[in-house]
Amino acid sequence: AHLNRIRAVDDKVHAFLHVDAEGALAQARRVDAKRAAGEPLGPLAGVPLALKDVLTQKGVPTTCGSKILEGWKPPYDSTVVRKLREADVVILGKTNMDEFAMGSSTENSAYGPTRNPWDLDRIPGGSSGGSSAAVAAYQAPLAIGTDTGGSIRQPAAVTGIVGAKPTYGGVSRYGLVAFASSLDQAGPFARTVLDTALLHEAIAGHDPYDSTSIDAPVPPVVAAAREGAADGVRGLRIGVVKEFGGEGYQAGVLQRFHEAVDLLAELGAEIVEVSCPSFEYALAAYYLIAPSECSSNLARFDAMRYGLRVGDDGTRSAEEVMNLTRAAGFGPEVKRRIMLGTYALSSGYYDAYYGKAQQVRTLIKRDFEAAYERVDVLVSPTTPTTAFPIGERVDNPLAMYLSDLCTIPSNLAGNASMSVPCGRAPEDNLPVGFQIIAPAMADDRMYRVGAALE
Ligand code: GLN
Repeated sequence: AHLNRIRAVDDKVHAFLHVDAEGALAQARRVDAKRAAGEPLGPLAGVPLALKDVLTQKGVPTTCGSKILEGWKPPYDSTVVRKLREADVVILGKTNMDEFAMGSSTENSAYGPTRNPWDLDRIPGGSSGGSSAAVAAYQAPLAIGTDTGGSIRQPAAVTGIVGAKPTYGGVSRYGLVAFASSLDQAGPFARTVLDTALLHEAIAGHDPYDSTSIDAPVPPVVAAAREGAADGVRGLRIGVVKEFGGEGYQAGVLQRFHEAVDLLAELGAEIVEVSCPSFEYALAAYYLIAPSECSSNLARFDAMRYGLRVGDDGTRSAEEVMNLTRAAGFGPEVKRRIMLGTYALSSGYYDAYYGKAQQVRTLIKRDFEAAYERVDVLVSPTTPTTAFPIGERVDNPLAMYLSDLCTIPSNLAGNASMSVPCGRAPEDNLPVGFQIIAPAMADDRMYRVGAALE
C-alpha cells in the first residue's frame, strides 16, 4: 500500500531519491514468513520506513543529495539500519535531503527540491525534508532523519509531524556520512508521539563502532510517551525560553506556541520563564563550528574513493582530477561551508574564530545547566515561521540560517529535543511546531510532555 502511495504522489512531492520496491517487498515477505512460522518478531515487524539518504544501507545507492556520491553503493549497513532490521522494519527507500545535510529547505539537494505536502509551493524543511514530507504525505508511517542544527525538528515542525533529536551519543553515528561529527545525530519521525518513541527505542543504544556512543541504558521513551498520554504533566516544571520570541517571529507561530503553554499549565505543569542569555550567540558559534568540522570531514571526497571521478583520462595528475571532481561534484552551499571552515581553522585565525566559538559553546551548555536546576524541560517554538515558499531564501544564506535559530543550542549542548505539532498558524493555515528540550539522557521527559500535548 505504501509503495502504491509513493507511486501515486511522489512525482509531485519528490520525497524519495531511490525507492527500493524489490528490497522492501522481499523484507515484507521475510517478516510474513517469520510470523507464519511462529518465530519471534521484532518490535516494529512489517512497519514501512523511509530512510534519509545520508545513512548507509548495504548495496543501496547513498548520495547524501550530492553529485559527488552519484553511483556509490556502500558495502556495509549503518548501525541504525542494522537495528531497523533487527526490529523487522521494512525500508522503502532513501529520501531526499540538502546536500550533505547542509540547509533548511531541501533546496540544496543536487537532485531537485522536495515539496511540502500541505502546500506544494512551499519547502518541507531541511535538511531531512524528504523524510518529513514522506511521513506527512502518508508515503511512510515512519522515517529516519539526522539533526546537526535542527534538521529533524525544523522539517517536522513545518510539515506538521513529530520529530526527535535524541541526546548526542544516544544513537550510533556508525554509517552516518559525517557533516559535523560533534553535532550530528540520527533520530525518528512519525505522525504521533508514541510512534516516534517506538522508533527511537528501536534505533538507540550503545555501539562500540562509534566512540562517542553513550554506554548507558536507553532512556525509557516509550513508557514516558504512554505516561504523558495517560497522566499528563502534573508536577512537571516547564521553562519557557525568554530569548525565543518577539521580533522576527511570525505572530501566528507565537500565538499557537503560547496556547500550548497554557494547555500544559491547565494539565498541571508549573510554567516558569527562563533566561538563557548566551543563546543569542548560538547561531554565530554554530556557523563556525559546523563548517570547520565539515571542511575536515569532506576532505575524504578526493575522487579516488567514492562515486564521481571527472577528467581521469590518463593525462591529468591525481590533484587535477580531484579539483575537477570537487568543482563538478559539490554544490554552492557545500563549497561555501568548506571555504568558511578552512578559513576558520587556518593558523592565525583558529583562536579568534574556532576557539572563540568553542568558548561560546561552553557558555550555552552552562545556560542549560543553570536552567535545569530550576525546571525539568525547556520549551520554545521550533521555528520562527511556518514553511516558507520555495525559492524565497535560496539566494540569501543568512535568511536560510535563521530557520534554525531555536534548534541549534540543543545541538551545541548535546542534549535531547523534539518538535510536536501545536496547530496551524491562523494567517496561513500551515503547521506550527512546539519544541521541547530535555537534559542529556533524559529524553523520556520530552516524550512525556509531547504526549500530554497531543
Ligand atoms: N540548517 C542547518 C545547517 O544548514 C542545520 C542542518 C542540519 O541539522 N543538518 O547547517
